[in-house]
Order: sequence, then structure tokens, then C-alpha cells
Amino acid sequence: FSTARQSLRIGLIPADGIGREVIPAAKRALEALGSDIPRLEFHELLAGFELFTRTGTALPDETVQILKTGCDAALFGAVSSPSRKVAGYSSPIVALRKELDLYANIRPVVSVGRNVGGKPVDLVVVRENTECLYVKQETIVRTESGREARATRLITERASRRIGKMAFDIALGRPRKQVTIIHKSNVLSITDGLFRETIRAVPDLPEVAGRYAGVALAEQIVDSAVYRLFREPEIYDVMVAPNLYGDILSDAAAALVGSLGLVPSINAGDEFVMGEPVHGSAPDIEGKGIANPLASMRSAALMLRHLGYENGASRIDKAVNEVIEEGSVLTPDLGGRSSTSEVVDAVLRRI
Ligand code: ATP
Ligand code: MG
Repeated sequence: FSTARQSLRIGLIPADGIGREVIPAAKRALEALGSDIPRLEFHELLAGFELFTRTGTALPDETVQILKTGCDAALFGAVSSPSRKVAGYSSPIVALRKELDLYANIRPVVSVGRNVGGKPVDLVVVRENTECLYVKQETIVRTESGREARATRLITERASRRIGKMAFDIALGRPRKQVTIIHKSNVLSITDGLFRETIRAVPDLPEVAGRYAGVALAEQIVDSAVYRLFREPEIYDVMVAPNLYGDILSDAAAALVGSLGLVPSINAGDEFVMGEPVHGSAPDIEGKGIANPLASMRSAALMLRHLGYENGASRIDKAVNEVIEEGSVLTPDLGGRSSTSEVVDAVLRRI
């Protein structure tokens, strides 16, 4: 991305639940940066399950069009997912990742201060964002012995290769420079086999011209990867995984650093980037004013960093880390007694 911009046009899609409580926090963090970033232009956009129940549409065409033609980047809140199938509804975030070809979900998990397992965590989960079981091709048929449900799991060489390159590029920018492929090819030898084999071959691709020679490559079966993540998180640097394993791994890693409310992500493609806290819509705490805004604020920082505004990004990160370390203004998920807005104010003061 080029950083020679007059203004930065950012789509804001709070969507459902606590998404509406934490996206305004990210917006205020960006606004607090002043001249470290170009002039900001925000576009408030609609999407979500609640919108669907009111209007029959979860992702209006207008939202997609404005993102594609009038925005440089976006911030997404969360969607509530109905636990049973609702006729006509499909997740707008899954659709947006497809529409904008945001093929990588990048989730840095870093411990600050005291963390649950006692050992420091500093890793990045790089999750493939477009295929695996998320192609959502499910069928159900009645058989003599009862119903039979099937799902298609798609793994392509193209998607595995580009997520692999993304993982190697991220590793190059980190001190450890190590990529661990997460898979289950002992059981799923064809699908996970292709994922593993394609990523193993990335350093030898002619177009990368030996660029990844200094990156160490490791691999781990997904179940033992989770076990070792809890026992010895320090062995991981960049973990690259197919969509579903990446989803599960990053929630597990979030538990290690204390709360889902701390873990940011970006959905990145070659043309666009969308920040999104890793947590969901958290219906159990919605509307109570106690949602942790830090994951959302950190997502804004990640988005800026990806766009090339390192100064602005690190000012947000630093302020967030100071608030966590100082420890007196924290939301209940971190054992504190403060509200969302008190935490936001504490971060803004430090920025
Ligand atoms: P969804 O279907 O939208 O993912 P969910 O029920 O899985 O909803 P999550 O948002 O994934 O809920 O959250 C899981 C748990 O973590 C909930 O108990 C929730 O309250 C808590 N949690 C998630 N995000 C935050 C946050 N930002 N601040 C405080 N607690 C959070
Ligand atoms: Mg969830």
C-alpha cells in the first residue's frame, strides 16, 4: 500500500451486539492521532443479523459498493450467529471476506503484564480466510437409518500458496522468523496434505527468489499444536492454518493472554484491509456497557500498520499496553470494575 494519501477513508461496520459498543472506541482512537495520519473520513455502513431480522438483508449492496469504491480500509465489529439455520440468512462477514478477497486473517496474540499460563505469549495466527469448511456447502438427506449430513471441505493450491506467502512475509518482519504449519494430514491426507505440501514448497517458488531462506519452517498436527500452545507457547512465532483450525487456535490463544476482549485481527487481501476484533457479538454482555474495547482499538492499530502508518499504530498499541499494565482501569473480563467508556477514556488520555 502507498502511504501518499490526502485522506484516509474508513468504512465503519459495527453490525451486531457489542460490535456497536467497541467500534466507536476504535474510531475515537484513530481520531486522537491527529497529524500522525492523513485526514480521516468515516463512512458508517450497515450489516448484520439484527439488520437481517428487520429488513431481510444481512449485507446491503450499498455497503459492499461503498467499501469497494469509496473506502481505503474498514473496521468491522461483530455479527451474532443464530445457532440454528435461519432461512435466507448467511453471515455478512463471511460474504465480505469473499467480496473483497480478504484471503488472510491475521491475529497477533501477545501477552502484556500478567497472563493466564504464566508464560509470555507472542505469536501470530495466520488463518486462511476463504475456504476450508467455510465454503458452507452442506447437505442433509434422509436414509433408512436416519438423517445423514455432509459438508464439503475445500482446500486449493492457490489459496494455500498465497496464505503461505503471507505467513512467510510476516515471519520475515519478526525477530524469531519461524513459520509453523498447522494441519491434520495424518487423517485428512488429501485436503490437509495439499495445504501442508503447498506451504512447504513456498520458499522454493521462483517468484519469491530465495527471499524466505532465513525463515525456519516447522509443522504441527493441530491437536498437539493446541496442547503445546498451552504448555509451551514460546515455541510458536507465526502459525499458519486452514480456516477452521485457525479460528479455534486463535480463540485458544486468546484464553492464554487473559481475554478474547484483547485480541485484534485484520482481514487482509492484496487490495483492501479490514480490522476486526477476534471476539464475537457477546450477547451475554451486550448493552451493559462493560465490553472490553481494547481488541477493537488494537484492530484499528493493526489496520493502520498494514496501510503503512507505523507511528499512528504504535501510539495506539503503546497506550493500550500501558492501560493493561497499569491495571486500575480494566473491564470485568480482565478482573476489573471499569466500564467500556472509562477504559476508552484511559487509552485516549495516553494517546
Ligand atoms: P458470537 O456467536 O457472536 O461469536 P458468542 O456467544 O460466541 O457470540 P463471543 O463474542 O465469541 O460470544 O464471546 C465469548 C465469551 O467471551 C462471552 O462470554 C463474551 O462475553 C466474552 N467476550 C467476548 N468479547 C468480549 C469483550 N470485548 N469484552 C468482554 N468480554 C468479551
Ligand atoms: Mg464466538
